[in-house]
Amino acid sequence: MSVIVRYAPSPTGRLHLGNARPAILNWLFAKSKGGQYILRLDDTDTARSTEEFAQGIETDLEWLGITPDAKFRQSDRFALYDAARDRLIADGRLYPCYETADELDRKRKRARALGKPPIYDRAALNLTAEDKAKLEAEGRKPHWRFKLDGRPVHFVDLIKGEQTVNTASMSDPVLIREDGSYLYTLPSVVDDIEMGVTHVIRGEDHVSNTGTQIEIFEALGSSAPIFAHHNLLTDSEGQGFSKRLGSLSLSQLREDGFEPLAVATMAAITGTSLPVEPYDSLEAIAGKLDFSMISHGAARFDTAELASLNARIIHAMDFETAAPKLAGIEPLNAELWAVFRPNLSKISDFSEFLPIVTGPIENGVAEEDRDFINTARELLPEEPWSEETWGQWTGAIKEKTGRKGKALFLPLRLALTGRADGPELKSLLPVLGRKVSVDRLS
Ligand code: GLU
Repeated sequence: MSVIVRYAPSPTGRLHLGNARPAILNWLFAKSKGGQYILRLDDTDTARSTEEFAQGIETDLEWLGITPDAKFRQSDRFALYDAARDRLIADGRLYPCYETADELDRKRKRARALGKPPIYDRAALNLTAEDKAKLEAEGRKPHWRFKLDGRPVHFVDLIKGEQTVNTASMSDPVLIREDGSYLYTLPSVVDDIEMGVTHVIRGEDHVSNTGTQIEIFEALGSSAPIFAHHNLLTDSEGQGFSKRLGSLSLSQLREDGFEPLAVATMAAITGTSLPVEPYDSLEAIAGKLDFSMISHGAARFDTAELASLNARIIHAMDFETAAPKLAGIEPLNAELWAVFRPNLSKISDFSEFLPIVTGPIENGVAEEDRDFINTARELLPEEPWSEETWGQWTGAIKEKTGRKGKALFLPLRLALTGRADGPELKSLLPVLGRKVSVDRLS
């Protein structure tokens, strides 16, 4: 079977880490199976969907390294949903209801007061043609419910194992609103059938939807795809990410200078048994992550873990990969990259260290170290310099002055770089060269 998956966000907000998770898990699964990845924008809610959000989603996915094999928008496909609607109506599985929101609310309250579950009572099924005509003459418009068949729905989830959804304890779901617009449930099934989707990988908040949707697949004469419901990513307090909040949105993380691979790795691997560590690519993760590794418990995202992974990715990054990310920054070469790389937490930190080589730097040497620095200058070896030079030089200074440890190294660092921390002096010294070093020690 050739695998076809889809990622189906609604363009009603920007993507955040929480909804990046299914985007990436679908991608990893498609990659590991040599399958197809469809991006489907679930934009039947035309009031809340915007073109700007649709574009934003594509930009975010591209940034993460996801390039869909095909793209669809549900708003282009209403004819298909209308055909499915008509078929369900003809088969008696979709029926019109005329209760207002208030009336439904009252029914629910009454049921609760009687100690019954607040399930829709299917009163609309008893309406005669005459009743309906009367209601419509009053100006009421129907919403449409799918008639659940009341038998428990079983399926084998690739992550959660055997699942049973007891649809008998659910209200018949509304598939079409009063204004004729579709809720997500039916168009999603119609598209999954029409697009030949083999695996639906989505958050575990959809498990009961799956029960309903499996019934709809069958009512439309199709077998259901295979399902995999993953745990949801939460923030460190266990709260879900809100789309409209912009908290940890991908665009924010991008602006903050995080590496896309660090973000993608965190979104995919948090809450699994795979270690959070640098991977070369999404493909490399795809080769390792298996659904059996996804925990059944929570997936708590930790900002500090993202920051540390980001730094580790940069520390391992070769110059060819880094160079395009630093485009426009001067000077830039493999040697400088190698010197600064171990000190960067984000790629943008590179420019922060550049003044160390380009100058001018602020000489931070304390008064009482002046003589020591003069002695050090006199002991500077002749060029050519290499990574060995630092050891030879400081060895000679140590012998002459008797200083060691911090008393030896800190004044040298302050004199040469103007700061108390930063790149390893052993690799920096040959980059500075003798002339600049003499100047700074003077
Ligand atoms: N638009 C739905 C959502 O964002 C899609 C869920 C699904 O994958 O079926 O929750």
